[in-house]
Amino acid sequence: MRWQSQTLDAEDGALPGLSRAGLVRTVQTPEFEGITFHEVLCKSALNRVPEGANVPFQWTVNPMRGCSHACRYCFARGTHEYLDLDAGRDFDSQIVVKTNVAAVLRKELGRRSWLREPVALGTNTDPYQRAEGRYRLMPGIIRALTESGTPFSILTKGPLLRRDLPLLTAAAEQVRVSLAVSIAILDEDLHRSLEPGTPSPRARLELVRALTDAGFAVNVLVAPVIPGLTDGRAHLDAIFGAIAAAGAESAVAFPMHLRGSTRGWFLSWLAEHHPALLRRYRQLYRRGAYVTPEYSAWLRSRVAPLLAEHGLTARGRAEPETRTETAPTSDAQLALFA
Ligand code: SF4
Repeated sequence: MRWQSQTLDAEDGALPGLSRAGLVRTVQTPEFEGITFHEVLCKSALNRVPEGANVPFQWTVNPMRGCSHACRYCFARGTHEYLDLDAGRDFDSQIVVKTNVAAVLRKELGRRSWLREPVALGTNTDPYQRAEGRYRLMPGIIRALTESGTPFSILTKGPLLRRDLPLLTAAAEQVRVSLAVSIAILDEDLHRSLEPGTPSPRARLELVRALTDAGFAVNVLVAPVIPGLTDGRAHLDAIFGAIAAAGAESAVAFPMHLRGSTRGWFLSWLAEHHPALLRRYRQLYRRGAYVTPEYSAWLRSRVAPLLAEHGLTARGRAEPETRTETAPTSDAQLALFA
């Protein structure tokens, strides 16, 4: 591949801005209309989870920055601002690809100091977004983790994961592999409007079926639950029913939070498509990024019986009534390895 001839000693690490991020070249191709890839050489692949984060893993790997799945509610949007890109359209269309991530990861996992602690993928952006079809970073990452004896988890909305199913099945014979699929919306129109770059809910249900048939106990992230739009009993009943029918073992559902740049990006969509809900949102999110404790409790009481009805194990999640605005963990992180 083109980048293999590049040296591995370029700047990177924290990706403070594209100019200092080890940028090798910027690419646009007809197959990915409207998307620009920024190919960088990273210096490190493993990211340590901030101290105090209440998650059952200590490390993450993010092969890309930005995500063409373009979910309006995506909590990772703000991270694009560290690259001097904006958290709206740029996050959806300016994708930073760490082309050497597998080689760097292999080197890091080979250190004698590596303790084989669980590594999570999909905690920031989706590793099986469309770009993975072009760059094929995941097979190298999976092999590096497996061969080093490192347990790992993947959370995705991308049926492209099926491409790597044989590899994942073989990996699961050697290390613990946890797979989770995110399906927040069943309604096709709402899905197209809110998650315009993601594969259809039907395609993701088929992914759940394929993973289940391959022997994995699949967890489904029915999240975020969007107040007033996806929290109706009929919608939740239908989505849990579809997930159970696809063979999922467990599910987790929790309300959307709106922090930083994501808040404005989501609320501008709401104002355009569902202006009548704005008043309710002002009330629900009056404390900041999180819904009121009353709403959280109400949602839990709605979800629990539905999960039981459909024979799905409820995946636990520490959700204190009061969360700080600077909570270091993401909801997706909490769902993994739950
Ligand atoms: S798939 Fe995940 S990472 Fe990608 S835009 Fe949607 S929420 Fe964000």
